[in-house]
Amino acid sequence: MRRRKLHTDSVTSGARKTEEEHRRDICIVGRWLYERGYIASTDGNISLRLDPQRILTSPTGISKGMMTEGDLVITDLEGRKLCGDRNPSSEMAMHLLIYRLRPDVSAVCHAHPPVATGFAAAGIPLNKAILCELVVALGCVPVARYGTPGTPELTEAIEPLVNGYDAILLANHGVVAYGPDLITAFYRMETTEHYARVALVTELLGKQVLLSSHDVGKLIAARTRYGLQTAAAGGIERPVTSEANETERITLTRAELKVLIDEAIQKERSRP
Ligand SMILES: [Zn+2]
Repeated sequence: MRRRKLHTDSVTSGARKTEEEHRRDICIVGRWLYERGYIASTDGNISLRLDPQRILTSPTGISKGMMTEGDLVITDLEGRKLCGDRNPSSEMAMHLLIYRLRPDVSAVCHAHPPVATGFAAAGIPLNKAILCELVVALGCVPVARYGTPGTPELTEAIEPLVNGYDAILLANHGVVAYGPDLITAFYRMETTEHYARVALVTELLGKQVLLSSHDVGKLIAARTRYGLQTAAAGGIERPVTSEANETERITLTRAELKVLIDEAIQKERSRP
């Protein structure tokens, strides 16, 4: 059978590949994360399931934009090194927790894309229905409370969220995204950062027009129709829609706020 010739930087979908192909894919995704500015220095980590017992991961202490296939490390499901000259990622425990809780997940990407990480540092989830693509692809992206990287604090923080979401903001740290194969995990990272950029622009413009729950319902129906794989349990969290926005959020100018405060002070002073 003749194989389709791929562009040198292509990653095909699917999790059933040879070890050589998986190694190549991890190095390509590492370059993509680095070139897009999603990671700096030696940040971030990428892993995938080689088979039911083994994980192939990026090593610690090296730029993920400059890795070669031989730099990668193979571990067992407890994170013990089975093969490789370098040491496995310092965030291996986070990856292993996701594999343990989500049998449908075969690849995990962790990075620090600056805009989504800004939302994470502000403690603001990406949960508003402002982009149809995000509703279809991810639903919502929650914020996990802060946990020191590389310690059980971080795994404890994400554990309650792993089953219900396919990407998570890590407070004061970054983003973790995962999926049935490496390209899907990368796309989920990219979609999260893209959504965060658009959300930031709407904040700068001072206005967000949210989709209605009717529109969101249609998008979620389309997602099922397309057969998109998503968070295993609990389905998809519905994002905040225009109806909620009308009742829960108001916008005031500084002058309007001042009038309200002055009136409240006046009222308080005029009390007998
Ligand atoms: Zn990190």
